[in-house]
Amino acid sequence: MLPVALAVVVALVVSQVAIFLTTIYLHRALSHRSMTLRTAAAFPMRVLLWTTTGIKPRQWVAVHRKHHAYTDVEGDPHSPVMLGWVRVQLTNAALYRREARNPATISRYAKDVPPGWWDRHLFDRAWLGLGLGVGVLMLLLGPVWGLVAALVHVVAYLSSNAAVNAVGHHFGRRPYENTATNLVWLALITAGEGHHNNHHAAPTSARLGHKWWEIDFGWWAISVFRAVGLAKVRLERIVFTGPKDRDRVAA
Ligand SMILES: [Zn+2]
Ligand SMILES: [Zn+2]
Repeated sequence: MLPVALAVVVALVVSQVAIFLTTIYLHRALSHRSMTLRTAAAFPMRVLLWTTTGIKPRQWVAVHRKHHAYTDVEGDPHSPVMLGWVRVQLTNAALYRREARNPATISRYAKDVPPGWWDRHLFDRAWLGLGLGVGVLMLLLGPVWGLVAALVHVVAYLSSNAAVNAVGHHFGRRPYENTATNLVWLALITAGEGHHNNHHAAPTSARLGHKWWEIDFGWWAISVFRAVGLAKVRLERIVFTGPKDRDRVAA
């Protein structure tokens, strides 16, 4: 395989790993408590998130819960209704960072995710984690192609996350009454996150695909973790919270 092709393939695999961990660990488990993970699964997930994204879980949780509390109204950190979908698509990472650095957002929305020993001593050093991740890619592919792979991963990861917030609140089907949308193609590349209209209708559900044909690879992975005793799902059936969602999340 050509080095450039290998670098791109490795980058897309790394991105997919980060996307699965984002939806399973940061989103479904931590933000919505729709499932719990045993430490044997959660800890390696944290290490991988640290080295592939540098994200601090309490920040991600807080920004995301605020999005559910103020979906597409004043206060939403990244609403395409307020800002336009192109702007959210292109600047989602900056919009995220601005909200993540707001101490009021963290203290209000992530009270239950306080920094622990591992955060204070290791995981809060985002650049160290990212540096380690890039280092591994450089060892694996050589310095040049390792850097190329890191760059491709960053672009793939950030743009697919942005698409959930931008495209996933603008184009697509709305089977439930909320401003988010369902997009099959987006769900396929984001481990199920593209079923975003379903998710806003039933945020406490660990399963984002509601119809049999709504493929949710994140849920498939969760099913494997459940089968080996590493994950527990809180609600077996899909519970719709509708407009009450706002009170529930903000409380
Ligand atoms: Zn949304
Ligand atoms: Zn959510």
